Amino acid sequence: MRFIILSLGALIVGTAACVSGISGSNAAVSDGADPSATPRRTKAVREITYTDAEFDGKEVLMTDAEWKKILTPVEYTMMREAGTETPFSGAYFNNHEDGVYYCAACGLVLFRSENKFDSGTGWPSFYQPAFKKNVIEKVDRSLDEVRTEVLCARCHAHLGHVFDDGPQPTGLRYCINSPALRFKKAEAPE
Ligand SMILES: [Zn+2]
Repeated sequence: MRFIILSLGALIVGTAACVSGISGSNAAVSDGADPSATPRRTKAVREITYTDAEFDGKEVLMTDAEWKKILTPVEYTMMREAGTETPFSGAYFNNHEDGVYYCAACGLVLFRSENKFDSGTGWPSFYQPAFKKNVIEKVDRSLDEVRTEVLCARCHAHLGHVFDDGPQPTGLRYCINSPALRFKKAEAPE
């Protein structure tokens, strides 16, 4: 836990430095405050517009430089440089709450809590995506073993990998990095 707090502190510093360096930018950092106010206030958690529907085919593609302005350093490493979070360290491997997991870069719905299972690997694991169309699967030969990389279909963010040793009904295990996800808790029924 101490590690997470320290990391967050570093992220806040990093984000503030980044934004002050691009003053006037209207990148997708929204704090909901007076838009004319300068300098902009920054938040540790960037606001994202969530999309709950199946991917409509309209990609959100930006350059690495553009993503760098928007994402936190950790998000950038995970999603644009295919990083892997340290197992048992992330926000979601042990999350058992009901809700929906969105792409941390573009907000597209990716996974649902009802398809999540405890894989024991230390990474959030799902046996299927929310919609098959919302993820792209790509052959990854970066290690000796050939793996299947999983990316967000809309913004092509690296999410993790999919393996064929998961539980039924699919037999698949989508092994995903927490920083690539944003969890929205389901609202309690009235
Ligand atoms: Zn995305």
